[in-house]
Amino acid sequence: QSMPQKAFIYALPIELYKEHGIRRYGFHGTSHKFILDSTAGLLNKPVSQTSIISAHLGNGCSVSAIEQGEAVDTSLGFTPLEGLVMGTRCGDLDPSLPGTLQKKLGKTADEINDLLNKQSGLLGISALSNDCRTLEDEALKGHEGAQLAIEIFCYRLAKYISGYMVSVPSLDAIVFTGGIGENSSLIRETTMGYFKHFGITVDEQKNLEARFGKGGEISTSSSTTSVFVVPTNEEWVIAAEAAEFA
Ligand code: AMP
Repeated sequence: QSMPQKAFIYALPIELYKEHGIRRYGFHGTSHKFILDSTAGLLNKPVSQTSIISAHLGNGCSVSAIEQGEAVDTSLGFTPLEGLVMGTRCGDLDPSLPGTLQKKLGKTADEINDLLNKQSGLLGISALSNDCRTLEDEALKGHEGAQLAIEIFCYRLAKYISGYMVSVPSLDAIVFTGGIGENSSLIRETTMGYFKHFGITVDEQKNLEARFGKGGEISTSSSTTSVFVVPTNEEWVIAAEAAEFA
């Protein structure tokens, strides 16, 4: 809700926003809020002075850019299909593709919607599974589809995180959360590998140890920006916010 217009308005005729509410709304706000509050605690800073890029990686995936305690951009859009590669969702793609696929495959708009939401992402690329654990196991054994799915997932994620570095000038930390973000040292290591030339580096041992509910800082002492793993707790935020109305 705090995002500026430049972040949430699509480059479509402006009436679509004004009359039909077509804009980027974003999702996962409860998780990103929890991550912001927790990271501020870890950094010993007031939330209003904490700036992070938060990557919630579960079955649904999103990155939120948070400058001085306020969300300024996010990767999920009008629906939770935009942005990153997810378990079964494709994320960003050429907007002309749904129409082209509809004609090429002789499918209805609903069928294409189903293909983009339920048959794509990690599952679609690997032709194997949307479960990151299965993909990691099979990638290690040489499954090329699993290897490619992980490679694309991490590359797209790194591009989003680096893009949001322009949105968060006072960046304190990059934070991983969600089932994949909290547990997959491989995804974190591969993604953060793209940031070495920014001087952002991850400690191999700390990264391996951060899993199964154990979070904390995983960056090296010389890293120009901190990298954290923070277990999320969306239910807590929902309960706390609901309690305010009780
Ligand atoms: P969530 O939607 O946050 O519950 O996350 C679900 C995703 O987390 C699934 O893709 C799981 O494969 C992934 N996940 C859970 N545990 C692990 C793990 N130990 N290693 C890698 N991925 C995991």
